Amino acid sequence: MACHLFLYRNLVYNLQMETTKKGKLFVITGPSGVGKGTILEKFFHNNNNIIYSISQTTRKPRPGEVHGVNYFFVTKEEFENSIKNDEFLEWAKYSDNYYGTNKKFVLKALNKGADVILEIETQGAQKIMEKFPDCVTIFFTPPNFDELEKRLRGRNTEDEDAIKKRLDKVKEELQLAKNYKYNIENDEIENALTKLQKVYDEEKNEH
Ligand code: ADP
Ligand code: 5GP
Repeated sequence: MACHLFLYRNLVYNLQMETTKKGKLFVITGPSGVGKGTILEKFFHNNNNIIYSISQTTRKPRPGEVHGVNYFFVTKEEFENSIKNDEFLEWAKYSDNYYGTNKKFVLKALNKGADVILEIETQGAQKIMEKFPDCVTIFFTPPNFDELEKRLRGRNTEDEDAIKKRLDKVKEELQLAKNYKYNIENDEIENALTKLQKVYDEEKNEH
């Protein structure tokens, strides 16, 4: 009888643990133009149960970008108010614009057991690593600098000044790659996507 009671208690405990198990936080970074957005779009197409954290930014929308889908596009004043009100899990200034992750949204999703992906630049990623030592960190690298520049220019979304500012950061950013649990080279899209899927599946199966 005692044994049955123990087993029953264990079962209830396990079920409770199961329902309250927190989601995993994934941090994806890498230099501008490396292909983070391209790979993630395909990744989300194949994975329905993981949430993309939509950031706030003061950057102007690019053609085709939608408020509330790609970003929440806000004014500098609105962003600075959000900083004052402690609404960000992290935020950073990158290439003359502010970018930030909504704290409430991410914590609520994780507490409900959902996995969350942050696609952020390296200063923000560093802050998240300090706050969430268990987060899964992934750094996308380009095959080489010339290919990165070609992709960034080929995207045709920034003016020359903004392209230069982004390229100026690359060397420094690439030196940080070693601090990330996974480095994925985006040589071919399908290759990089397969590697990301493998990382995700392995991390999901880890207890
Ligand atoms: P990021 O989100 O990292 O700034 P994007 O996803 O916007 O980069 O990609 C930058 C450009 O490079 C886009 O025009 C995209 O189509 C292209 N691109 C992405 N991955 C590859 C790849 N493996 N080979 C060639 N071009 C790529
Ligand atoms: P882009 O202007 O190309 O969309 O983004 C510029 C950089 O800002 C990219 O590296 C992108 O990942 C990063 N970024 C997007 N959202 C956030 C955010 O909420 N916080 C931080 N720190 N970086 C972000």
